[in-house]
Amino acid sequence: MEGRDVSRSFGGLMALNRVSFQLFDGELVGLIGPNGSGKTTLFNAITGVFPPQEGEILLDGKPISKLKPFQICRMGVARTFQIVRPFLRMTCLENVLVGIVGRDEKGASREEKVEQALSELEFVGLGGQSQRLAGSLTLLQKKMLELARALATKPRVLLLDEVLAGLNPSEILQALDMIEAIRERRKVTIFWVEHVMGAIMTACQRIIVLDQGRKIAEGPPEEVRSNPRVVEAYLGESDA
Ligand code: ADP
Ligand code: MG
Repeated sequence: MEGRDVSRSFGGLMALNRVSFQLFDGELVGLIGPNGSGKTTLFNAITGVFPPQEGEILLDGKPISKLKPFQICRMGVARTFQIVRPFLRMTCLENVLVGIVGRDEKGASREEKVEQALSELEFVGLGGQSQRLAGSLTLLQKKMLELARALATKPRVLLLDEVLAGLNPSEILQALDMIEAIRERRKVTIFWVEHVMGAIMTACQRIIVLDQGRKIAEGPPEEVRSNPRVVEAYLGESDA
């Protein structure tokens, strides 16, 4: 996947200002930046929720920016949300089935869909929970459920928006293991947003840094961490 000079504004605010990026197949790339720097907006641009007003996003060299979100999903782009939002009154199984229905073009049978949903639940560690209401899950489990739903669309590119936010240290380790498992066992390119640098710096080979809608740095974690522009951007944060 590739983005070329992607721009998106809201009112007078340039939330994304000519951001270019490239994700190679199977890569795990981190996207970091202070609060409000445009990370979620970039995911919204990629998934067609708020399409870029300028620039282009390409998947396998094909422009996707003019497509509707469901079409982009069918092309193999899935995401999780910063604020988890499973359907709380639906069971875990039903939540994952929603993902499969969103992707399905060939009309798999109900049985096949259920089987696939159950195997995704198993994969994320919710194997025994298929009949539980999503609303009764812990935050970590809800996040895992969202992952299962995203994986059920059989994505080629998976966008993770702050999966670690709100988790305690031991849950963070479990979530990291899951990201590692996805990377190893699924043929998927992962673009991963995290507000806090620590975990993402250890897991990714390459990091892209946004500040005020612009890409200010890109490279291996050590390089990015010591980049003066990056340090300065984070120093400006009230909670840094
Ligand atoms: P991040 O995810 O890096 O914290 P966001 O991408 O959510 O930042 O936001 C970047 C900027 O764009 C912020 O100033 C935010 O208020 C603004 N913004 C994002 N989405 C919208 C929207 N739908 N309407 C208006 N402003 C938005
Ligand atoms: Mg965000």
